[in-house]
Amino acid sequence: MPLSSEPQDKPRSDLLVMFGASGDLARKKLFPAIYRLECRHRLGIPVIGVAREDWSDADLHEHCRSSIADAGEDWDQAAFDRLIARMTYVGGDYNDPTTFERLRGAAGLTRHPIFHFAIPPSMFATVADGIHAGGLAEGARLIIEKPFGRDHASAVALNTTLHEKFPESAIFRIDHFVGKEALRSLLVTRFANAIAEPLWNRTYVSSVKITMAEAFGVEDRGSFYDSVGALRDVVQNHLLQMVALLGMEQPVNEHSKALRDEKAKVLEACRVVEPEHFVRGQYAGYLDVAGVRPDSDTETYAAFRLDIDSPRWSGVPFFLRAGKALAETVTEMTIEFKSPPRPLWLRDHSHLPHNSIRIEAKPENFAAITWLHKEPGETMMPDVITLAPPPEERLDTGPEPYELLIEEAMKGDPTLFAREDSVLESWRIVERILTDHEPVERYAQGSWGPSSARRLTQHHGRWPGEPPAPPGPMP
Ligand code: NDP
Repeated sequence: MPLSSEPQDKPRSDLLVMFGASGDLARKKLFPAIYRLECRHRLGIPVIGVAREDWSDADLHEHCRSSIADAGEDWDQAAFDRLIARMTYVGGDYNDPTTFERLRGAAGLTRHPIFHFAIPPSMFATVADGIHAGGLAEGARLIIEKPFGRDHASAVALNTTLHEKFPESAIFRIDHFVGKEALRSLLVTRFANAIAEPLWNRTYVSSVKITMAEAFGVEDRGSFYDSVGALRDVVQNHLLQMVALLGMEQPVNEHSKALRDEKAKVLEACRVVEPEHFVRGQYAGYLDVAGVRPDSDTETYAAFRLDIDSPRWSGVPFFLRAGKALAETVTEMTIEFKSPPRPLWLRDHSHLPHNSIRIEAKPENFAAITWLHKEPGETMMPDVITLAPPPEERLDTGPEPYELLIEEAMKGDPTLFAREDSVLESWRIVERILTDHEPVERYAQGSWGPSSARRLTQHHGRWPGEPPAPPGPMP
């Protein structure tokens, strides 16, 4: 069952054009995604790859084949044959209008083409103009990759440019995180459990902590990453989308507008992050990565406190952190509950852990509850146990995020895509700390980031995964 029940009168796309067919995203994610769709007989339309390479159709087919193989997909020769039988290549520069004329020729009699912008963001407006000038805008849909703008002003400008040629309903701003099984199941966790929803608010929750940690560095993407940094790369989009899903009210109906309205309201209620609530770091060795400026101050780690002025969340801090070269690769959200009144038989219960719900999105996909129970024996001391599904039920067996999202865009269902107001609100929230901040604090690779980040959560326990602070000097 899909997440939304959009009216089914929207025409399905009849052509997929992949701009950036020679790029990293196309290779790692997009070719495997359309192959998986084809395996399930869910694609079934012509595909045109566009890039600057001097390729033939056969070169594109070979590139597609090796991308799918490198992704470790099970091989289905019949599906692959069907896919490449409908796949052609158009070479050319996006700054050259004849590229779009040739694309128009290759597109044939399409009425509802869908264009995936797997290209540098600096080319988004140029390509949108080229589609329009090439006579391909009518009935078209655009899947626009992140980042959508570099800040609030550039996102407004990009929206304005796109809207000159395309209605908002044709624009699908993709954030593949939102297509992850764990984020979609968050709505079930929240709204289908009678023991979750009534407690999911400022009366019972003391704080919310969100982590997106990667144990690896920027690898071969130094030049790209150095111009972006953690805030723009993952926080403004992925982490704030998680905040929206964790914080929103139940949508009033199952249509995409209702869900997107609720997400937008949460972001609108978020305060602008203050520099004193922001910690930025850079892992030791980052400056030696190829493509990184020798004196770079780009953050590879960002953590901050976010306050939401809504009736549900007023006074409950949300702590967000994201970073590279950290101790683990893990994406998780932890909802920490307040302490109950002191149990009668305990003089001091300040040391007792609190209940919490931890939702892991990566590497596994599950929700776990920490529960206090009585230690066996004479004692009446509470002890903590974790209630979680067994490992075999934590697997992510659904469609890959790009597989799901490309299909949703082909159907014209915008539910899982970012609407313009949400994107602009997200930029507003981080706008100040994009420029008003301290220099980066160096941190060791394999650690949990700058030590200052611990101060952020000072009165709200530790960040998940972090050991207790070492004992201070003896008084
Ligand atoms: P790459 O630099 O690897 O690929 C960019 C593509 O655009 C290449 O095919 C390149 O062609 C083409 N291109 C650039 N300029 C022109 C031009 N003037 N005319 C014709 N083609 C051009 O980028 P990525 O694939 O990494 O990223 C693409 C988009 O996806 C970006 O917006 C990125 O932020 C986003 N994204 C990427 C992810 C990833 O893991 N890579 C993850 C999530 C989002 P050529 O080969 O000829 O240079």
